[in-house]
Amino acid sequence: MEYEAILFDNDGVLLERTSSDRSVFEAAIRDAFGEHGVTAPDPEHVADLVYGVTVSRLTTICETYGLDTDSFWLSRDRACSQVQRDAIAAGEKGLYPDVSALDELERPTGVVSTNQHPTLTFAYDRLDTPSFDVVQGRPMTVESLRRKKPNPYYLEKTLHDIGTEAALYVGDSEHDVIAARNAGIDAAFLRRDHNDDVSLSVTPDHELSSLYGLSAILE
Ligand SMILES: [Mg+2]
Repeated sequence: MEYEAILFDNDGVLLERTSSDRSVFEAAIRDAFGEHGVTAPDPEHVADLVYGVTVSRLTTICETYGLDTDSFWLSRDRACSQVQRDAIAAGEKGLYPDVSALDELERPTGVVSTNQHPTLTFAYDRLDTPSFDVVQGRPMTVESLRRKKPNPYYLEKTLHDIGTEAALYVGDSEHDVIAARNAGIDAAFLRRDHNDDVSLSVTPDHELSSLYGLSAILE
């Protein structure tokens, strides 16, 4: 298949994950609760707000404390974006070395991530990234949670912005592979140390052990 554009997930593909992410995010979420006058949130609620939050779970948690969902979520996203920006600025979170492989792709590229959009723009301003034609992060709204992968919403929006339907999406999670399928495009599953032993319920069109492997797919 001839791919006219290559799209990438961000975290775990371009930008390094850090082992301390969970505890740092939990601290950020406690700060967000604190901004709304909740000084001792249930640890289970804090943990549930780190990854994979659904609108229904968020709504239930906010109801427990009498919080406005939109306003609390904005605080949560701002706090979680800030800790990532701090880690990037401190040099604790950088690009994977094989991102340099993107210099050779010679076709439009984009990033489609459910990380907050301001986190991505900060990272790409600071770090020596290739220039992407489109960077599509997640707006810091409750509505954006309904559109997270495997929902193809942001992938489809990016395909439209680039002007192609013949693209490849490179990701490191099952959600990425399913989102690509839902958007009608091919997926390449990238295995790194953090997901080396993951087994998938869906079969990606390609598997990679490094972004340098893209050139063989694109030949
Ligand atoms: Mg990822």
